[in-house]
Amino acid sequence: MTGREIMDITEEYGAHNYHPLPVVLTKGKGIWVWDSEGKKYIDMLSCYSALNHGHRHPKLIKAVKEQMNKLTLTSRAFYNEQLGPFCKELAHFCNMEMVLPMNSGAEAVETAVKIARKWGYIKKGVKHYNAEIIVCENNFHGRTVTIISFSTEPLYRDEFGPFTPGFKVIPFGDADALEKAITPNTVAFLVEPIQGEAGINVPPDGFLKKAYEICKKNNVLLMFDEIQTGLGRTGKPFAHQYEEGVKPDVLILGKALGGGMYPVSAVVSNKEVLGLFTWGEHGSTFGGNPLAAYIARVALKVLIEERLTENSYEIGNYFMEQLRKIKSRHIKEVRGKGLLIGLELHKEAGGARRFCEALMNEGLLCKETHDHVIRFAPPLNIRKKDINFAVKKIKKVFKELD
Ligand SMILES: *Cc1c(COP(=O)(O)O)cnc(C)c1O
Repeated sequence: MTGREIMDITEEYGAHNYHPLPVVLTKGKGIWVWDSEGKKYIDMLSCYSALNHGHRHPKLIKAVKEQMNKLTLTSRAFYNEQLGPFCKELAHFCNMEMVLPMNSGAEAVETAVKIARKWGYIKKGVKHYNAEIIVCENNFHGRTVTIISFSTEPLYRDEFGPFTPGFKVIPFGDADALEKAITPNTVAFLVEPIQGEAGINVPPDGFLKKAYEICKKNNVLLMFDEIQTGLGRTGKPFAHQYEEGVKPDVLILGKALGGGMYPVSAVVSNKEVLGLFTWGEHGSTFGGNPLAAYIARVALKVLIEERLTENSYEIGNYFMEQLRKIKSRHIKEVRGKGLLIGLELHKEAGGARRFCEALMNEGLLCKETHDHVIRFAPPLNIRKKDINFAVKKIKKVFKELD
């Protein structure tokens, strides 16, 4: 089939809940992908940070094969040899005590919401069912009914009610608003340290520290959704580590935890919180299966051994510097941390989509987030010379579309 034919049957038989760029990918290796015509591109999206390790990392391919040849699924009705070591290694990596594995990011967020509510009833003494969770405007935590219930994006929410109650929304980055929103029924504050889907929104310096202190003072759980920002993406193991002395009660991970191979997510916390689940209360058929657990172990190992986080920091800063040097009347701001970079265009630029299409023609696959932001988030093992190549192409596109 030609690329055109593949796109046509995808649109005819597949639901239209995405608006992809017109390119059919057939192969990937490292930072590179190839389309059905054999044209080569740098992947500047990395599957929204699920590909921090790049495409088909050899050590991860090996891990998949090894475990596939041994055991793939067991269910949690039995123990498997990978789950325990996975939980221990991830807990240590996060400086936490306990792990609950799931599959998708949204499931991990749901899990965190459930355990925060239970913690509120059991430990904080909130009356059933009065628990409230505070979240931020422009949040993105996934697509389930409960999660979209507290989304502020009409597109994600408006046609899908009735909604789950128990959430309060404050402006992102506003510590005073957080303090004011807290009531005796508040059990948790759920926040992304940098808002990814909203357009790479970095909060004011000190916000996370203040949020930490406010939560501590009021006996409210601080829950960081680091599904997109975690595991090296922002140049630190976790984005919240840019602010000293901030320790979440609950850390929610996904995306890159699966090494670009498999969906693996997790809630990571301490015993006082995660220890509250008793058997039967929560579960997942696929969560914590030996294939997932082994892949995630190797994904963590590679992240550390290959210094992907350090590379993300260095190359990310370099990339951002180069982007800031581009002279164009269309560019409003370049922002981000590490290799999670957003380039915001002025409204008059005619939308980010046409820039992404032009970049695609130049061999860079980027995706607009909302209408006016281009996200640059390549695999974390990208090298300086590839960034130089990319910057040249980006400059060319801005010149042509000026
Ligand atoms: C992607 C993402 C999710 C949802 O993950 P899925 O695996 O798509 O369910 C949740 N939170 C954040 C911050 C994300 O970036």
